[in-house]
Amino acid sequence: MPKITIAIDGYSSCGKSTLASDLAHALGYAYIDSGAMYRAVTLHCIEKGIISAEQFSVDGIIAELPNIKLEFIFEEKSEIHLNGKCVEKEIRSMEVASLVSQVSAIHEVRVQMVAQQREMGKQGGIVMDGRDLGTTVFPHAELKIFMTADENVRIQRRKLEMETKGIKVTEEEVRKNIHERDVNDTTRKESPLRQAEDALVLDNSYLTREQQLAMALEWAKERGA
Ligand code: C5P
Repeated sequence: MPKITIAIDGYSSCGKSTLASDLAHALGYAYIDSGAMYRAVTLHCIEKGIISAEQFSVDGIIAELPNIKLEFIFEEKSEIHLNGKCVEKEIRSMEVASLVSQVSAIHEVRVQMVAQQREMGKQGGIVMDGRDLGTTVFPHAELKIFMTADENVRIQRRKLEMETKGIKVTEEEVRKNIHERDVNDTTRKESPLRQAEDALVLDNSYLTREQQLAMALEWAKERGA
């Protein structure tokens, strides 16, 4: 059975990770959350005092890149490790969310992340989600999905996700953060978020988790998965 590459892109909090991990599980593929990589770089730079709400050193981030080792460890699910430590919870904080889109706009950061993502996907059999998978990382992916959802639905989902992880936030904080990241991600110079010409659009505002998975699975099977 051939193993295809599936690239899922879309705005913040559209449910990309849920669909990507469900799809990978159903197909027996690996799942990689590329956003977690940009978040882990951001977390590391916060911990090293290179960036904060008050200061942002692009040169400092670039100089720190050789000291950042990222790995995905697959146990029950795929979890990101930063220099040997699982940081799945820490990378979801509001502090990381408020700085990550500035970090991800840096050319040197993207070059390094994209190279690692291509390496992880070179055998196929992978579902990766993010902002530039279908346009830059895997332009030849057999299946590209562009996800979108109503803004209010996205805000409620992200708030619930953060609360489930024990992070307290107000609806206004989440709205502001989602809006800022979408603006930054779509207007940056380097690999901005946009729909690949050959991507299929999936609006999941009013779809259940099972319905969106069924739709994506059908597309994957049509493309040889
Ligand atoms: O997907 P998630 O919301 O966790 O991504 C966090 C941030 O990482 C995004 O807002 C974006 O700035 C950046 N990102 C990116 N390219 C990707 C994935 C994420 O620039 N492929």
